[in-house]
Amino acid sequence: SAAAAADPAAGAAVKAADRAHVFHSWSAQGLIDPPAIAGAEGSYFWDYDGNRYLDFSSQLVNTNIGHQHPKVVAAIQEQAAKLCTLAPGFAVDVRSEAARLIAERTPGDLDKIFFTNGGAEAVENAVRMARLHTGRPKVLSAYRSYHGATAAAINLTGDPRRWPSDTASAGVVHFWGPFRYRSPFHAENEAQECERALAHLDQTIAFEGPQTIAAIVLETVPGTAGIMVPPAGYLAGVREICDRHGIVFILDEVMAGFGRTGRWFAAEHFGVTPDLLTFAKGVNSGYVPLGGVAISAEIAATFDQRPYPGGLTYSGHPLACASAVATINAMAEERIVENADRIGETVIGPALREIAGRHPSVGEVRGMGVFWAVELVKDQETREPLVPYNASGAANAPMGEFAAACKRAGLWPFVNMNRTHVVPPCTVTEAEAKEGLAALDDALTAADAHTTGA
Ligand code: PLP
Repeated sequence: SAAAAADPAAGAAVKAADRAHVFHSWSAQGLIDPPAIAGAEGSYFWDYDGNRYLDFSSQLVNTNIGHQHPKVVAAIQEQAAKLCTLAPGFAVDVRSEAARLIAERTPGDLDKIFFTNGGAEAVENAVRMARLHTGRPKVLSAYRSYHGATAAAINLTGDPRRWPSDTASAGVVHFWGPFRYRSPFHAENEAQECERALAHLDQTIAFEGPQTIAAIVLETVPGTAGIMVPPAGYLAGVREICDRHGIVFILDEVMAGFGRTGRWFAAEHFGVTPDLLTFAKGVNSGYVPLGGVAISAEIAATFDQRPYPGGLTYSGHPLACASAVATINAMAEERIVENADRIGETVIGPALREIAGRHPSVGEVRGMGVFWAVELVKDQETREPLVPYNASGAANAPMGEFAAACKRAGLWPFVNMNRTHVVPPCTVTEAEAKEGLAALDDALTAADAHTTGA
């Protein structure tokens, strides 16, 4: 994919307008310099200065189908010409078809779809459904998690971004999920980690009062917090605990769903069916904002004769649904989920393990599909993170140097605290994956300089 000819003057104008009027997410507005991007195709995007980047971030782990997939672009254009918008109270062909295609792929009897505009709204509504279904107030979620930036979603989130809004966290209780590399359970193996994490959850529930708990919310594979694949048996254990106490099990697959882990949904890896499953991102690769909740027959029946008190003007937006239909069909026709699985198993996983063996800055690599984390440490023995937890700004210089080295080599990395996540589109080719991994390998030399081994 050839980038358009360089036009630095146009890029400078875009940047100036951005600086004047755009207020950016999660940022000190005066300290950022957002790059101006001119275009994108497949696994690449490019700026106005003639730099082309291999996108190992998938734009916040989102463009599973790659940039500008022609079938999805055409479907949006066709839908725009036909019917741009209609209130959620009507039956619309693309809305019905998107719901059918999603329900067909979700596990078990999650056969009703409530559409939202993104992931956080999906989490908000899943929690509301669980509270109304059970008549109970509390929701349990894990430390080391991300569930979105709106009121309920940010309070469920188990990372420092929750702290400023903590006064609103009534009714949310956090617990530790399994994560052997930094285990609070001091487990010696995966089986012990699993057993101790389940015992800890059991105890948390006993002390909170099971009859007060509406739901347990977990990311199937926690993503933003570090792509921590749960040990075999953990999610089945949580399912059993939920069943024992009549607690609604919510799996958040906003990031892990729609091919990212090499399955349509990550829950398939673990043979688990939740009562509610939240999705967004990969459902249509974010071409038009879309998310939703897949609802079990039992919870859906709660609202058969009594209204569900929730809704959004743009719920099931025709442009978003048309792009979801085209995305899901293209992913099936082009075997894109299978590609993610194969590239993860045969290219990314083996390469990262080999890279880990050569760099003193790599503490652990873990993942599945096109969903991998490289955890950078100061010291492999103590596992001290390369930058402190909750690092920001100047304190994060080592990761900044690593990211800059990637970008100089034409690779756009995903960086969060002391980790880089290898999360290219599910469509990434073997050659592209190898090109990106080679650049990442070189850039890790910048991180090695900050280790005790240097
Ligand atoms: N849940 C998970 C697991 C996520 O990864 C995210 C976003 O990264 C969200 C929820 C929030 O989604 P959104 O940013 O679309 O509101």
